[in-house]
Amino acid sequence: MSSFDYIVVGCGGIGSGAVYWLSKVAGKGVLGLEQFSIGHVRGGSQDYSRIIRHLYHDEMYTKLTQATYDTWADVEKESGLQLVYKCGTLDLAPRDAPAAQVIEKCADALDKQRIKYEKLDGLGIRRYFPQWKFGAEMVGLYQRDGGLVDAASGNAAHIQLARGNGATVIDNCAVTGIRKLGPNNIQVTTNKGEFRCKRVIVTAGAWINDVLGSCGVHLPVTVTQEQVTYYATPHMRDFTKDKFPVFIYHGDSHDLYGLPIYGNTGTKMGIDVGGHEVTGDTRTWTPDPVRENKQEDFLKRFLPKFLGPILETRTCLYTMTPDRNFVVDNLARKGLPEVSFCCGAGHAYKFASLLGKILSQLAIDGRTTYDISKFSMEREAIADPNFPKNFGLGRVVGVHKAKL
Ligand SMILES: Cc1cc2nc3c(=O)[nH]c(=O)nc-3n(C[C@H](O)[C@H](O)[C@H](O)COP(=O)(O)OP(=O)(O)OC[C@H]3O[C@@H](n4cnc5c(N)ncnc54)[C@H](O)[C@@H]3O)c2cc1C
Repeated sequence: MSSFDYIVVGCGGIGSGAVYWLSKVAGKGVLGLEQFSIGHVRGGSQDYSRIIRHLYHDEMYTKLTQATYDTWADVEKESGLQLVYKCGTLDLAPRDAPAAQVIEKCADALDKQRIKYEKLDGLGIRRYFPQWKFGAEMVGLYQRDGGLVDAASGNAAHIQLARGNGATVIDNCAVTGIRKLGPNNIQVTTNKGEFRCKRVIVTAGAWINDVLGSCGVHLPVTVTQEQVTYYATPHMRDFTKDKFPVFIYHGDSHDLYGLPIYGNTGTKMGIDVGGHEVTGDTRTWTPDPVRENKQEDFLKRFLPKFLGPILETRTCLYTMTPDRNFVVDNLARKGLPEVSFCCGAGHAYKFASLLGKILSQLAIDGRTTYDISKFSMEREAIADPNFPKNFGLGRVVGVHKAKL
């Protein structure tokens, strides 16, 4: 069969979500195409865990966070697997540093959605979580519903459930072009032959411009090689999911984040936008010792028991828009209302299933029930080629944050 109602290009986090949500309505009419094997580690979505949280600096996200928990709960219900673990999130910043303003913005965005949280000073944080070593000079915001989502299992559940609903998923199948033959008649060319469909969803991560290029569209995205390190802490009991929340430390130039033990026996840490600019094809799997050292300095100072010998450092890709906000849109203004797409801007895994649902609605109904008005490709950050890059979610961190 080479003719389908819907084709999804790229079956990573968001694409697998789109295949799943489409398959619930359109069953056999859905085709997912993935250039590598399903579950590969070359993109942005494949690890044991990703942070999920209500905590965001802007209501455009806090408006969607409850829905993201709900969509994961739907996948959990249908698969019977637990995917989300609510171990809490703790955002931290030095009290008098400019970064502390992000915490105020987050509190404001949470207030607007009536999501509960607790503000704490350094001593309050240590009362709850004695693993930390600092005094009253730190401020924090604890939100108990935050936690982690099992990314590898989430992607796999999407694909397996979609296949169960009748969808076809073909891996090692690279899309080389999208061409409109007529209204609701789209040709998708691949290394395994040609397919036809009525609607296409492009969720190609770091390769998004390679795919959208054939539609005459180029998004101003920056791809960076990020990494996370797992530490074989001997203090495992102090860093289990029930004892230690996910943390994000808002530092002067970078945010550092950590997660409790999950997936293997190590604690996990990374630096947000800590990596160098690459492409999907030039990235490597070699850990950067500069970032490992920076993390170690932080941990020795504030959270020594989290440390242990390095178990593993994994590299991964961020694909970011200049304002670091998502793009979820279709190409109607280019005469291609049949093509919709999404760029997750390096913080979208928590929303992967919801974004898949939103894209499925856009493909099926031409509109979505969720508020994505701020994620248009018409906004200045996407439309203006001179728009300055600022990758600091909620604060200005300079032209390019990706230098340590
Ligand atoms: C180290 C790291 C930590 C992160 N931490 C978090 C976190 O804690 N919380 C959070 O919410 N987000 C986090 N993110 C961001 C989040 O993981 C990404 O935003 C999200 O997973 C991106 O999903 P995606 O589907 O857009 O991309 P991908 O998962 O990369 O999927 C794109 C897919 O498209 C395929 N593809 C591309 N071109 C073609 C083609 N021509 N034909 C067929 N297939 C194609 C690719 O092979 C790939 O499988 C993190 C990212 C990294 C790298």
